[in-house]
Amino acid sequence: MPAKVDEAKCAGCEDCVDACPTEVISMVEGKAVVNSDECIDCEACVDACPEEAISMVDE
Ligand code: SF4
Ligand code: SF4
Repeated sequence: MPAKVDEAKCAGCEDCVDACPTEVISMVEGKAVVNSDECIDCEACVDACPEEAISMVDE
């Protein structure tokens, strides 16, 4: 159940990039993107996002 970023809510602050312990979040055209294959489901990015743009999703 990896993290997923809602692009419409993402403000591009990169807080989630800094928060992710496995460094699987990258910025693409100003929006955060999670490499879901390597996400360890720790939810650190969910807590770090000031825009509440990240949620855990079933895949
Ligand atoms: S849930 Fe954890 S491992 Fe997955 S993208 Fe967020 S911070 Fe990184
Ligand atoms: S913390 Fe939230 S608003 Fe900031 S880059 Fe990540 S997803 Fe976007």
